[in-house]
Amino acid sequence: MKIIFIGAPGSGKGTQSREFIDKYGYVQLSTGDLLRGAIIQGSDLGILAKNFMDQGKLVPDEIMIGLVKNYLTSQSEKSVILDGFPRTIAQAESLDLMLKSNADQIDKVIYFKINPQILVERLTGRRTCTNCSEIYHIKTKPGKASGVCDKCGGQVVQRPDDKEDVIVERLAQFEKNTGPTIEYYRTKKTLFEIDGMQRPSIVFEEIKKSLGLLI
Ligand SMILES: [Zn+2]
Repeated sequence: MKIIFIGAPGSGKGTQSREFIDKYGYVQLSTGDLLRGAIIQGSDLGILAKNFMDQGKLVPDEIMIGLVKNYLTSQSEKSVILDGFPRTIAQAESLDLMLKSNADQIDKVIYFKINPQILVERLTGRRTCTNCSEIYHIKTKPGKASGVCDKCGGQVVQRPDDKEDVIVERLAQFEKNTGPTIEYYRTKKTLFEIDGMQRPSIVFEEIKKSLGLLI
């Protein structure tokens, strides 16, 4: 089984990935990890990728596809969740061709839909301990004393990434970049849209059902 998770930052797809890894033995393909791994190993593709990154350029599709291909070949016995890939229609088409040549396919694309207003509220309310990284929320999980960590007494602050303008910008970027890829899978009829704002346990059950996992 090969499935793709698509969702904005904060849509809950990371939580669901962990569930599928823990409960069903899925492995997760993360392009960030693949790139880091290839660069550390110093493989041919890693060296090529590093050249682009050192110049501040995006790593070209051919290199990403090569890395993804190697990974999927090495994990051919396992069910895989692809996260963060494909990002463009060109990548999606190359992925389809690559899988087809192995008589394989993408079984399902899970799109975690979000409500931007609710998501912004969730994320901007987040506070993080600068000492132990414990996460609080001004509404749902406030600390006993404002600005102080219950666990370690450290300083609790809003991280720069959790500020409203940063989050709004990230969501807009996501929408712009991912919209066409979502449409691509919609026309292929592999897309399953899920309300990512629901409780994680409900989201998990719905994804399971869409994949035909009965237990
Ligand atoms: Zn702390």
